[in-house]
Amino acid sequence: MTVGLKPLIEHTLDQVRTWARINSPWAIHFNTGSCNGCDIEILATLTPRYDVERLGVRLQGSPRHADILVCTGPVTRQARERLIRTYEQMPEPKFVLAVGSCAASGGAFRGCYNVCGQIDEVIPVDVYVLGCPPRPEAIIHGMVTLLNKVSAGKAQAG
Ligand code: SF4
Repeated sequence: MTVGLKPLIEHTLDQVRTWARINSPWAIHFNTGSCNGCDIEILATLTPRYDVERLGVRLQGSPRHADILVCTGPVTRQARERLIRTYEQMPEPKFVLAVGSCAASGGAFRGCYNVCGQIDEVIPVDVYVLGCPPRPEAIIHGMVTLLNKVSAGKAQAG
């Protein structure tokens, strides 16, 4: 193999990996302290009516197999360590979608004795979906925005 061929092969492999990631992202959902309103809307996006799987998005049970961490709610003191551990278990590159006003700012629970704050005070967030709760269309829009950022190489990638 010549010296110039190795970087070319690595670059091509990176492009193939990004193409596969964008067309078949696997996601894991973590409720860090939500009232369940946002979680119900995430469930709705998985039903045939909204059908987020048509974008290739598949819900995963294990962080070790997931590309995207979908978080709902403010971060409670109880959930903080579990959120960090879940994020650290995900392989690189990894991305975070914060769903709902509580995930973005603490929302209605900000300042509560049992709440540490919003998601980005604990782990980096790539895309925020606002609303209380956001509609399934907004969640799908957030997912597409995240995939576009990954495609353009603008997401934080862990
Ligand atoms: S944004 Fe609204 S629906 Fe979602 S967890 Fe907060 S209070 Fe509940």
